[in-house]
Amino acid sequence: MRGSKAIGIMGGTFDPIHFGHLVAAEAARSCFGLSEVVFVPSGSPPHKADRFVTTAEHRFLMTVLATTTNPYFRVSRVEIDRPGPSYTVDTIEALRARLGSDVRIYFITGADAVMELMTWNRPDAILEMCELIAATRPGYPPADIQRLRQAVPEANAKRVHTIEVPALAISSSDIRARVAQGKPIKYLVPETVEHYILKSGLYGGPLATGRAGAGPLSGFYR
Ligand code: ATP
Ligand code: MG
Repeated sequence: MRGSKAIGIMGGTFDPIHFGHLVAAEAARSCFGLSEVVFVPSGSPPHKADRFVTTAEHRFLMTVLATTTNPYFRVSRVEIDRPGPSYTVDTIEALRARLGSDVRIYFITGADAVMELMTWNRPDAILEMCELIAATRPGYPPADIQRLRQAVPEANAKRVHTIEVPALAISSSDIRARVAQGKPIKYLVPETVEHYILKSGLYGGPLATGRAGAGPLSGFYR
């Protein structure tokens, strides 16, 4: 028997966190009555091996700054502090062990990432331990939602839910590119995050000294 408590997990590289992530998390919280949403910035992300990833401490701090105004949001260091590659399944397993079987866990993700998820480490175990909330853009065709559900094994299709998120067009890659090109990122990320990016010289902004930004915390190549 499952109790009524439910929590959300939003995993991501958050390089940087933006309003798309925040709007999706808040929409999931209110639609599914989640008592909290835990943001989990990845440590060393196995899926982003092809590009430079900003140091975890910067990404963690930006996530903290972005979530301070929402009392339901919190940020976990679990993946950052765990050595080796970050696997979502390990994070959910640890959380499930801590919460017991009475709490529902919802993993919040962009719709496109649901297909990707099936290529991750032990996707079946993820779906056994939690349900998925996939953020889709408004007007996402029902056929595509159907395709989403078909991406997971049939027994678990009912565990994939969708929510519409109007800010779905925002992406971290676009924000990084905008900073590098000197374009504004205002209204795409919280102001605190905007200031943090500019002050730290991340993403080749005006204060950057090298490709990744200023200072020893700047990042690493994988
Ligand atoms: P990148 O452009 O580098 O891929 P991203 O914007 O997709 O970055 P991630 O940190 O990779 O950000 O995403 C974390 C999670 O948030 C993923 O599940 C992703 O699908 C989801 N997500 C990304 N952008 C949005 C958005 N605009 N609205 C809702 N969810 C999003
Ligand atoms: Mg992405």
